[in-house]
Amino acid sequence: MKKRYVYPFSDGDGHDKKLLGGKGANLCQMTQIGINVPPGFVITTEACLDYLQGNQLPSGLLVAVRNEISKLEAATNKTFGTGPNPLLVSVRSGSALSMPGMMDTILNLGLNDETLTGLIQQTGDERFVYDAYRRFIQLFGKVALGIGDEKFDEHFEAVKSRVGVKVDVGLEASHLKEISEKFLDVVHHETGEEFPQDVMMQLQRAVEAVFRSWRGKRAIAYRREFQITPDMANGTAANIQTMVFGNMGNDCATGVGFSRNPGTGENEMYGEYLTNAQGEDVVAGIRTPNPLQQMENEMPSQFAQLVELQTKLEAHFQEVQDYEFTIEKGTLYCLQTRNGKMNAAAMVKTSVDMYREKLISKRQALLRIDPEFLEQLLHPRLDPSSTIKPIAQGLPASPGAASGKCIFDADLAEKLGKSGEQVILVREETRPDDIHGFFAAQGILTSRGGKTSHAAVVARGMGKPCVAGAEGINVDISLRQAKVGSRIIHEGDIITLDGASGEVFPGAIPTIEPHFSDELTVLLGWADEAADMKVMANADTPDAARKAREYGAMGIGLCRTERMFNARDRLPIVIDMILADTREDRKAALNKLLPIQRADFIELFSVMSPDPVTVRLLDPPMHEFLPTEQQLIDQIETLRMYRNVVKGRQTAIAALATPPPLPEPFRELNEELVDDVLSKKVQMLGKVRELREINPMLGHRGVRLGITYPEIYAMQIRAILEAAMECAENGIEVRPEIMVPQVITSQELLHVKKTVDRLVDQLETEFGKKLRFTFGTMIETVRACTRARRLAEIAEFFSFGTNDLTQATFSFSREDAENKFLPMYNDSGILQDNPFEVLDIQGLGQLIEMAVQQGREGREGLKIGICGEQGGHPESIRFCHHIGLDYVSCSGPRVPVARLAVANSKLREKEYVVPGRIPA
Ligand code: PEP
Ligand code: MG
Repeated sequence: MKKRYVYPFSDGDGHDKKLLGGKGANLCQMTQIGINVPPGFVITTEACLDYLQGNQLPSGLLVAVRNEISKLEAATNKTFGTGPNPLLVSVRSGSALSMPGMMDTILNLGLNDETLTGLIQQTGDERFVYDAYRRFIQLFGKVALGIGDEKFDEHFEAVKSRVGVKVDVGLEASHLKEISEKFLDVVHHETGEEFPQDVMMQLQRAVEAVFRSWRGKRAIAYRREFQITPDMANGTAANIQTMVFGNMGNDCATGVGFSRNPGTGENEMYGEYLTNAQGEDVVAGIRTPNPLQQMENEMPSQFAQLVELQTKLEAHFQEVQDYEFTIEKGTLYCLQTRNGKMNAAAMVKTSVDMYREKLISKRQALLRIDPEFLEQLLHPRLDPSSTIKPIAQGLPASPGAASGKCIFDADLAEKLGKSGEQVILVREETRPDDIHGFFAAQGILTSRGGKTSHAAVVARGMGKPCVAGAEGINVDISLRQAKVGSRIIHEGDIITLDGASGEVFPGAIPTIEPHFSDELTVLLGWADEAADMKVMANADTPDAARKAREYGAMGIGLCRTERMFNARDRLPIVIDMILADTREDRKAALNKLLPIQRADFIELFSVMSPDPVTVRLLDPPMHEFLPTEQQLIDQIETLRMYRNVVKGRQTAIAALATPPPLPEPFRELNEELVDDVLSKKVQMLGKVRELREINPMLGHRGVRLGITYPEIYAMQIRAILEAAMECAENGIEVRPEIMVPQVITSQELLHVKKTVDRLVDQLETEFGKKLRFTFGTMIETVRACTRARRLAEIAEFFSFGTNDLTQATFSFSREDAENKFLPMYNDSGILQDNPFEVLDIQGLGQLIEMAVQQGREGREGLKIGICGEQGGHPESIRFCHHIGLDYVSCSGPRVPVARLAVANSKLREKEYVVPGRIPA
């Protein structure tokens, strides 16, 4: 069948944005529901693609265009290119997806020497006509003929300065006429040809220019930036529309409106207008426009029409509309409309309001919001009016913004934080023993590490802003300063972090606090009703659990118990446990830890009651709890010097007949005390060297550690079970889940399971009560994926640890990749995303899918979730839904985003196609 390239607004299928472009499709819809739209027609995106391919307008197109123009002439009673009542048109681009300002528009097309005279006669307004003409020549010259604006502007400015006016409205008809003539000369001079008088030629060249703009630099860059694929938008349509004028007198106006307030979502008149003006004037800021409300007094009947217009638009498009209008001699026309862009708060409010007003369904209310957008609502943001420039750029590791004094160690951060100071903990990289500094700090900045580094993961869990891997910053702890280029930041200097952009600013920038509105609570309630998957939180402390609950977490999907070991009152015991030479000594230390862990679990289980809490047994390598080798060497050297000082002092005192009294703090100091500390440090150094591994993340950690030191896991399992028993005794319903990390074989699981069974037997006999809990495994090694069927025979649940699993699948270090080559891989398109953030569906996705399938073959109804960082990422969540996971688990503050994303995944499941796969 022969292609149809041209559709009048009264006839085009307004739902076919791919063919007619967004603007054209909406013009068709508006026309067909009876809105007063200046008549016109659309030339399709197919015509554009054929033009670009064949380098000429497709055959038959111009005949069809001429035909449509004739219909316009008949409908408007005007004539194109001739006569006393000439037809003028605009030519605008418009592709399937809105690309604001990226492509071209020509206004007032149809003016030539003849129509100019006709229009002057008809309007009696020479100034208006020459103003329209000079605008047209310049726009046409620029867009269709490629003449730079400056060639025109220089003449325009010359006339203005000769006449002595600052703004365009000061120019009279004769000046505008002179300018128009000069502009015609510019065209002749620049192109060697006369400005086309044939209006069909004008139209042809304008359409060609609009089509070419699809291949323009700006448009290509825009599509690349926003990842607009040909599938989403291919080619631009050209919209030819009768011109109407808002600048033909005081009964004319032009304006833009939003059907609701885009800043707050309030259902109120929002927008501005100017009487006796053209659209450009509103945008250019030459005159200050009035708020739409003012129209009620100035043009009451048109105001009433405007209210009616926006009600009709919203009812039809079922979305907040951003529209343009013109009033020509008292008649209101709508020139275009599109869905309004709003901030997150307004999106949430309008979703809930429009549902309540019965404008949209709950499904629409949920689907119209991009889940990622909610992030805006959950963290403080930097005041957008700040003009302070960043001094460094790192990775946006945990969103939110904060200012505070730069502090280079956790102890001082804690001290100042406790005294009420705002501090930012600045470290080369953080370690578990910095945890007290995290609690005290407003934000965390590191010069090394990626988005799954310790700093990033802990900060996200706490909902604090973090910029990680800002490699331009050189932290020098010994000088207590950091260098950024030639700039020095001293300890105590104020800085501001933006964890959403990764930027670091000097000084304090005010922040805007987040607000969890009633509407958000309502909307997320609808999301929970619609979803299949549950949303859990990664939380390690009762405080984090409470916060996660406020965000709507339905349980804890990952409690990393090592975080419990790092608290100040526990670390010394943990260190004793690590330094222990005999099993007995180790057990003694563990016996001290047992009641502390049990108390932690009781609190955690109680906060989450009656929902599940997945407790992961110890995972990190032991050396992470000890200082680094270099720190210990430095400390030992200092202590040795100090011992000499103490010794010297004692020698001196002994030599003096009457030694002076020592100040109080020094009296206790003696050689034995220093020796004690020294020998402990030397012992620690020995241990650190013994534990040293070239590749600790692939080393002695997780279940491997649990099997070599069985008493550690035994203590943790006992603490979990005893806590569960105690809660049950107190009538608190709890559902603990014991999870083993880093598993590669069922033998490992069986090993740990034996300890669990033994302790369960003991406790059940002792209390005469059954314990309710489940036993499961993390899946974070490639071998675990391939052995999933066998593992599922022992494990009652799986949780994909996609941080480690990504590391293992790519053979990329999760600590270093994001700071070294990954950005380059992303920039050059070798990898589209950062796989530590966005689940690698095409590669890792296959492993996961296989493990899910095999796991459920091994155990029917096996519960499966994901707890790596990707568990909070909407597109990754869609895949998780597609392969039938039961839950996602993510950091607490990410929970609302995930709740909306799991609902969206369910609501849009039918249209889902796994990226890179051919739809079935
Ligand atoms: C993981 O590996 O995905 C995970 C959740 O564990 P961690 O980040 O603690 O290694
Ligand atoms: Mg892991």
